[in-house]
Amino acid sequence: MKEAKMYYESDADLSLLKGKTIAVLGYGSQGHAHALNLKDSGLNVIVAQRSGGDNYKKAVEDGWKPVSVAEAVKQADWVHVLLPDEVQKKVWEEDIKPNIKKNAILSFAHGFNIRFKQIIPTPDLDVIMIAPKGPGHLVRRQYEEGKGVPCLIAVEQNASDKAKDLALAYAKGIGGTRGGVLETTFAEETETDLFGEQVVLCGGLVELINSGFETLVAAGYQPEIAYFECLHEVKLIVDLIFEGGFGKMNYSVSDTAEYGEYVSGKRIITDSTKEEMKKVLADIQSGKFANNWLEENRTGRPFFKKERKDVSERTIEKVGVRLRSKMSWIKK
Ligand code: NAD
Ligand code: MG
Ligand code: MG
Ligand code: MG
Ligand code: MG
Ligand code: MG
Repeated sequence: MKEAKMYYESDADLSLLKGKTIAVLGYGSQGHAHALNLKDSGLNVIVAQRSGGDNYKKAVEDGWKPVSVAEAVKQADWVHVLLPDEVQKKVWEEDIKPNIKKNAILSFAHGFNIRFKQIIPTPDLDVIMIAPKGPGHLVRRQYEEGKGVPCLIAVEQNASDKAKDLALAYAKGIGGTRGGVLETTFAEETETDLFGEQVVLCGGLVELINSGFETLVAAGYQPEIAYFECLHEVKLIVDLIFEGGFGKMNYSVSDTAEYGEYVSGKRIITDSTKEEMKKVLADIQSGKFANNWLEENRTGRPFFKKERKDVSERTIEKVGVRLRSKMSWIKK
């Protein structure tokens, strides 16, 4: 296995960004963190955030004078798109493309719209990605603490011949080179991100937890016991795996639990589960998943809304609300 090359503070030159006006589009989870970190790194930032809504209020409270996307893009040498993925195509066509300066830099924190050709930038632009591998609020908090969330960078178009150095400089501006920066491609970032969230992190985990819970409850066990076993303890186990891999987790659990892992784990995640994982990946790679999600948005999200409602009405969610209300140390 070849080790990936990592980039740190001394590999990035912040002076490449001096004198450039950077427009951060969207003041949400990622947007507020990028805008504030770049400003604290001594760079010239403008924020675009539509008015109405809490994020506009927050931008004003944080000292910005938020403008429209079109206005910000007109002034900017660098346009960083931190809008929800599903609205980016429309905003690109209506507000960014007609206003962006020639030879500007266009950047993203996730590759979806470039990878699935929703946005097709003109060839004069540098097109790059700086994707923090953590939620926006952590990107801000760690920067303030002198730390940094690791980032991925990627270059899709290199019109200036300096695109990679520019991406590294931006990553430094938000604190990413303190944690370490890794180079990827728009395709690799997009496909692995979607696969991870669908198969393991969100899709797989939610159904695993819920199926375990329902199996115990259907067999007559108390729902509260089932909740602790199948949901609450997941965090304790994942913390051990996060800190020291499967080895640390197995060291910490009893040998009985470890034996049970070896006997039953592969009865749950079977060869046919792995076959299905390959099919999920194929749907991501072919663009089928992306097309379905964009179509779902065009038609008012009927499936998404129904599923969200169904999941919220599951027994495990109701039991959870009751039990967590007694555990004051669990963050609201
Ligand atoms: P978000 O939903 O938190 O924020 C988006 C902001 O854009 C909101 O303030 C919203 O009001 C504003 N907005 C929405 N539509 C708009 C429009 N038409 N015109 C102007 N403003 C509009 O989004 P986010 O989670 O920060 O995601 C932004 C990007 O970052 C996405 O590409 C996402 O994939 C990527 N990303 C997010 C995270 C994360 O931690 N949430 C992590 C890595 C990458
Ligand atoms: Mg959400
Ligand atoms: Mg992800
Ligand atoms: Mg994602
Ligand atoms: Mg136990
Ligand atoms: Mg042990």
